[in-house]
Parts: sequence; structure tokens; C-alpha cells
Amino acid sequence: MTIELSPDALAGLLEQARKEYQNLAGCGLSLDLTRGKPAPEQLDLSNALFSLPGERYTSADGTDLRNYGGLQGLPELREIFAEALQVPVGQLLAAGNSSLELMHDCVVHALLSGVPGVESRWVDQDRIAFLCPVPGYDRHFGICERFGIEMIQVPMTAEGPDMDVVERLVAEDPAIKGIWCVPKYSNPTGITYSDATVARLASMSTAAPDFRIFWDNAYAVHHLTDTSVEIADLLAACAEAGHPDRTFVFGSTSKITLAGAGVAFFGSSPANVEWLLSKSAKRSIGPDKINQLRHAILLQDTDGLRTHMERHRALLQPKFDAVARILEAELGGSGLAGWTSPEGGYFVTLEVPEGCAKEVVRRAAEAGIVLTPAGATHPYGDDPRDAVIRIAPSYPGLDELEQAIKGLAVCVRLVGYERQSR
Ligand code: PMP
Repeated sequence: MTIELSPDALAGLLEQARKEYQNLAGCGLSLDLTRGKPAPEQLDLSNALFSLPGERYTSADGTDLRNYGGLQGLPELREIFAEALQVPVGQLLAAGNSSLELMHDCVVHALLSGVPGVESRWVDQDRIAFLCPVPGYDRHFGICERFGIEMIQVPMTAEGPDMDVVERLVAEDPAIKGIWCVPKYSNPTGITYSDATVARLASMSTAAPDFRIFWDNAYAVHHLTDTSVEIADLLAACAEAGHPDRTFVFGSTSKITLAGAGVAFFGSSPANVEWLLSKSAKRSIGPDKINQLRHAILLQDTDGLRTHMERHRALLQPKFDAVARILEAELGGSGLAGWTSPEGGYFVTLEVPEGCAKEVVRRAAEAGIVLTPAGATHPYGDDPRDAVIRIAPSYPGLDELEQAIKGLAVCVRLVGYERQSR
């Protein structure tokens, strides 16, 4: 990435960057680009939820939703999401407000009870490991860390995890019980898994008979362009390949309706669905079906969901465009950075010269621009190259975002030229 500069040219650029940074630090900024939260205007798109479901409290089949029960979740809401999540309605559960909770629970149940098809429990094995495509989502890694599950990094390619590496590792190591996947508009790179990657995940041989793919389709309908990127159907591919129980599908409305009061989904094979239902029955007598009902009324059907997501896109796309425009104007051709141009999802990945990410984040914080900690995209918070910075453009207003990205570019130039001068 680095461009060779003459000593004089470098000295000039460094002096310029230092001045710019001084100006930036003097601005008294207080900007936050840390987490991929929907902006208030995005949440406003679902304000109708506050007056829904009105006086209504029965489902389409006449069930009184005020009462206990209905562990599978509201059928009419599951119908709306079945297509987007590529799970047959009968194999899709609608649950509480967080899909992360469901992922956590699946790991806990696998540890304490084992998964369908095997007698042994994960917790009884000497060693348990998960494959972690990097850069990836820090909260996935947090679940592994919490339960002492070893994390093995796998590099991401433009088509998903490097499948040569994945196939080799899962074939030889029975301790590898799972892999974290964000298959569409991945967090944080924005890449989407190719059909070939999906086919290989479905058909590969695993040494562990109880291997599971944690298919976190968090951004299934979160498009940023006219092309709605679609992925191959992993659940069906696994069934066809003779591994029907291999995949757990997750999704939620966190970035569709209200991040703090949405609905999460789990989909899988009939055996896995039965498994999760039987375990969940011990911790709950049923989900918040009134919340599910107001979601079903708000979104109506798959077309309604599409229209709703177009409104999000109208708010988000200008922000992502601004990030791309400013990074190009400020850092294009400098040899100091590369960045992703996602077609959907919530994140842009900025790559800076090796050994610079932490320092860029530190300098930005000193100037009042808070970024996701460098390293968060890797297991144990440790990016061995110290090169990846995750940018979350959704939450700030456009003006603030533009200021923040310009400021971030100043920090990249400062740290990059300082490093080159050493
Ligand atoms: N998975 C991914 C990939 C995410 O980026 C996020 C939110 N940042 C979540 C899950 C969290 O989902 P939920 O709100 O449904 O728990």
C-alpha cells in the first residue's frame, strides 16, 4: 500500500499533517463512530409501533396473544421473514428482541446438552474451538471468550472465508465445533458470500459430527444499492448435501424496526428447531407475542418489508456515499489507506498501514472522534497486523459524519507519515 516518497516530500507532508491535526484537536469535537446503531430518523420509521396493535390482541388464527404460550412465535410474522431468511415458515422461530441472545443460548445449550445427532456434550470435551473469519463481529468473539471456546482465525476473501483453509481445518480437527458467518453485507467488510462458498460450507467434511455453522444473516434485507444482493440458500444446500442439521440461521429486526425492541429469529432443520424449542421451554413460557403482532401489522408482508427497507436506504445511502467520497478525496492515491465500498449492511472497513490502526484510533479519540477500538474486529481484541479500523456511519447526522471522516483522514495521514519518517 505504501508509496515511496523522497525525504523532502515526506517531511513536507508530515509537517502539513501535524498542522492539520493541531487544528482538528483545537475544534473541540465530540463525535462517535463506534457502534452500528440506527440513527434516530431510522427509528422514527417505526414509530407507528407505539400505537400498535391498538385494541387488537388476537393472531390471524384467533389465538389470544395476551396469554402464555406460542413458543414458536407468531405465524404471520414468521411468514413475512421466511423468504428473507431463506427458512421454511415451519422451521422458523420468532423469539425475543435479540438474535445475539439466541446465538448465546445455542452455544450454551450445545455446551450443556449437546446438539441433535450426538450423545456427547461440548462441555465434556477437552477442547472446543470455533473458526472465526476475520475481520469479523466482536460480539461473536465475545460469546466464545465468555465460554472459553478457542478461536481460530480464518482470513476473509472477497467471497467469504478462505474455504481452502476452512475445509482443511474442519476436516482434521474434531475440536472445531462451529464457525461464525455473517453471509450478507458482512460486519465489518460488507462482503457477501459467493454461491461457491455456500456450496462448499454445505458439503465439506467435518471431523466433528456435531459441527454447526452459525449463519448470522443480520443484514439480509439491508441493501444500499439498487441491486438487492442475494445469497445461496445454505439451509437447503446442507440438506441436499446430506448434512441437514449443520446450520443455525439467525436474524432480527434490530436494524429494521427498533434496535432495542425488535424481534429475533432462529431457523434450522426440524431436528434443530425441536432441540432449541425443548431447551427454550425450560427458560420461557413463550415470547412477547404482542410485540410480534405489532411488527406483523407494521410490516404487513414481504412487499411491506421491502418498502420499509427502502426508507432506511434513503437515510443510510447518503452517509455511506459521504464516507466513500471523503475517503477518496482525502486519502485516495496517498498509499496510506484502503477501504471497502459495501453494497449493504452497516459498516465500512478502513485498512491503514500495518502497525498504525491503534495509533490512528488513539489520535482520533484525542481529537474528540471516538472509533470502535482497533482490534475489535479480531478474536481477543487483537488484530495481529494492527491495520483494521471499523467505521460505523449510520448513527451520526450527515454533517457530523462528514466532520468525523475528514478528521479521521487527518489522523491517518499524521500516523502514516510519522511511521514512514521513522
Ligand atoms: N449480528 C451482527 C452481525 C450484527 O452486526 C449485530 C448488530 N451489530 C447483531 C448480530 C446484533 O443483533 P441483535 O440486535 O438481533 O442481537
